[in-house]
Amino acid sequence: MGVITGTTKLLGVIGYPVEHSLSPIMHNAALTSLSRNVGQRLDYIYVALSVGPADLATALAGFAAIGLRGFNVTIPHKQAILPLLDQVSAIAQAVGAVNTVWRTEQGWSGTNTDVQGFLAPLQGQRDWQQTTALVLGSGGAARAVIAGCAQLGCKAIRVVGRDLQKLKYFQQSWNPALSGISSRTAGPGTAFLKNLHIHTWTDLPALLPQADLLVNTTPVGMHPQVNQSPLSGHDVEQLPTQAIVYDLIYTPSPTYLLKQGRARGLTTINGLEMLVQQGAAALEIWLNQPAPMDVMRQAAQEYLAS
Ligand code: NAP
Repeated sequence: MGVITGTTKLLGVIGYPVEHSLSPIMHNAALTSLSRNVGQRLDYIYVALSVGPADLATALAGFAAIGLRGFNVTIPHKQAILPLLDQVSAIAQAVGAVNTVWRTEQGWSGTNTDVQGFLAPLQGQRDWQQTTALVLGSGGAARAVIAGCAQLGCKAIRVVGRDLQKLKYFQQSWNPALSGISSRTAGPGTAFLKNLHIHTWTDLPALLPQADLLVNTTPVGMHPQVNQSPLSGHDVEQLPTQAIVYDLIYTPSPTYLLKQGRARGLTTINGLEMLVQQGAAALEIWLNQPAPMDVMRQAAQEYLAS
């Protein structure tokens, strides 16, 4: 990003609300850095666009009319945008949510880079085939996490939630989508279905000792509830010594849960890496060149610390 001229092309993020988004900070830092390093101006600017739920289709038509190149999608549009797109990737269909959209000659294409973002800090950490993933929460982010765990090939994926009825619906919702994940990397769809288990929080004591990967997808511990954790001190003691504790929350950093994990000497991962990596994957789609991940990470970290 440099001087905005008459030829500057538009990228952005849509959401409602969207003002809190870190994406403009990360993406504009990346565009500036790429321009500097490549020695040619990348003539783009990335902005936050507030789009109310009732205006989504109108906004999309408007974006096409003004030649917007691509955009990220955040709450509440990640699911609602699917039927409005002309092509949706297999992984986005499997997750049931789109977070990255770009313009092609055939119209709007969408995919989900949250799965890739979630997976990035886990790749190469261990052989995932014999592992159990324990996922706390069953909302939107949990869907990307579960698709990611399926791609890793986890032996069992256990989802913990508050409401059994909601959990049953959540489990059933994967059925039509399973081939979308499995045909890529996760093995036979029936195996994934067999490996996905639902639990209420009362099952937690029995589940913790088996968890190789614990992922918090609930907002518990998020700013301003910084002294809360989805797990008690006793719960954390029950995790095996090889367990990885992964919290999708990126502010505060570390969260109380990650502090508990560190105090036990467990490997911990916070949500910033997922945020950076999903953003970098989106930028790579729009620009068709590698994104400067270090620059994006640093820009996000500096902004959060400011
Ligand atoms: P969501 O769709 O609202 O889902 C939240 C889930 O947490 C629901 O299953 C909800 O259970 C559960 N939950 C909420 N409050 C709870 C509590 N007090 N105790 C137990 N469970 C509770 O939200 P989301 O979009 O999935 O986001 C969840 C978290 O992930 C947020 O903190 C968000 O910032 C983070 N996130 C991070 C990234 C990243 O890039 N790092 C990306 C996406 C999301 P019920 O269904 O019973 O209500």
